[in-house]
Amino acid sequence: MKSVYELKMTIDGEAVAAEETLPVINPATEEVIAAVPQASKQELDAAVAAAKKAFSSWAATPIDERGEQLSRLADAIYANREELATLLRLEMGRPQAAALGEIDGASYWLKEVAKQRLKREVIEETENHRVERYFTPLGVVGAIVPWNFPFALSIWKIAPALLAGNTVVVKPSPYTPLTALKIGEIACGILPPGVLNVVSGGDDLGRWITEHPDVNKISFTGSTATGKKVMQSAASNLKRVTLELGGNDAAIVLPDADPAKIAKPLFWAAFRNTAQVCIATKRMYVHEDIYDAFLNELIEYAKTVKVGDGADPATELGPIQNKMQYEKVMDLIEDTKRIGASIVLGGDIEDKPGYFIPVTIVDNPPEDSRVVVEEAFGPVLPVLKYRDFDEVIARVNNTNYGLGGSIWGKDVDLAQSIAERLETGTVWINEVSVLSPHYPFGGHKESGLGVENSLDGLAEYTNSKTIMVNKKRSY
Ligand code: NAD
Repeated sequence: MKSVYELKMTIDGEAVAAEETLPVINPATEEVIAAVPQASKQELDAAVAAAKKAFSSWAATPIDERGEQLSRLADAIYANREELATLLRLEMGRPQAAALGEIDGASYWLKEVAKQRLKREVIEETENHRVERYFTPLGVVGAIVPWNFPFALSIWKIAPALLAGNTVVVKPSPYTPLTALKIGEIACGILPPGVLNVVSGGDDLGRWITEHPDVNKISFTGSTATGKKVMQSAASNLKRVTLELGGNDAAIVLPDADPAKIAKPLFWAAFRNTAQVCIATKRMYVHEDIYDAFLNELIEYAKTVKVGDGADPATELGPIQNKMQYEKVMDLIEDTKRIGASIVLGGDIEDKPGYFIPVTIVDNPPEDSRVVVEEAFGPVLPVLKYRDFDEVIARVNNTNYGLGGSIWGKDVDLAQSIAERLETGTVWINEVSVLSPHYPFGGHKESGLGVENSLDGLAEYTNSKTIMVNKKRSY
């Protein structure tokens, strides 16, 4: 097997190989592009032990100094942006420009988080009594990351965990380990040994981290089904957990929206990153007055978008990232055909290498069909007709997911009143997927637990500690 990249794990500041390796496949060509270490339990133990050993001096390092080191890491990521983007393009099959966007965004994220501070709060100060609240780090954080934005989502966890004074063991998805392994390598010259460890392996490695007695917190992004397992196994030593899970976000298009103007932004709301986005629009509810005009505009725009290998500069959408997900999405398309729903674009697969699925649009399928109810996580979009606002709000809320949603149209007051009734962690009006290191992001219901980003997200990497002094007494 020819490995393009020889990446190793980072444990205690050292580059570590493993006896076993895992192949990494470029989903645009189905070629093996690398073999990465498959960590054994002993290697995980070594990573957790290194993180545990590094914890006390890292936690005692002043936060301004920790922030400074994170800022230097952000600069080093930026300096390596082209190589990181190439790795990301190869492991995702995604266009280089989009890969570069993820790297630059993550570098910016790290810089911004490095400036955040949780203030020590004086809750009460009287003649007799002083009560203060502090935030103290937790210890070793296990960061478990999915394959859809492997670099950015690693940074979302590393940045606040380290800033707050914890040490970290990161585990990327077995499908997309390359850029996360590279972060470990880049961090070696910047962070003290053991502060940031990166291990690669399969799903078992994730489970071992969640079960490990010396891991104090799990920050997990992935599917709802795995999130439930993580929470169960984290109970063993009452690990803190932050869970960012699946979604089935709806867009609601109001009757006053202009179909010609709105088709393009809504196309990208649904299909960016080949629809492998937790907050992608996965159900599109359009008012009956403009339904036909909108559907027509959406189809016409979709026909102009080039799907292909990210290595081709003309490509706008790449393949599905892995075979397992490709088969799941194909199964959803087969089910949609089987129930006789109307597929108005796409739906048929070309016989060529790569996990390519064309942009597929389904015209008003039944509300209880799988294509509406399930999180597709691939380019299959149901467009649905509605008449009444109460009705559409009930339909949108009728799911165990509650990640995000969006509302589009001219009447912003109406949109705001609908937004207030949606059972999701985020609602966007006339925009979508706008995220920031300073805005809290998290899911309601089975889309997650806790938040990432913002000071609230940073606080999830700390314990709250209250110290009180009775000023009148002295013994
Ligand atoms: P996944 O749940 O299959 O895997 C996520 C990670 O968990 C991987 O690193 C995997 O190896 C690991 N893992 C698997 N089994 C484990 C176990 N028993 N214990 C611990 N770790 C385990 O998810 P995926 O297919 O990689 O990602 C797609 C899912 O992620 C979608 O549902 C998507 O909506 C969700 N997602 C959510 C967000 C968010 O912020 N809410 C962001 C991106 C993706």
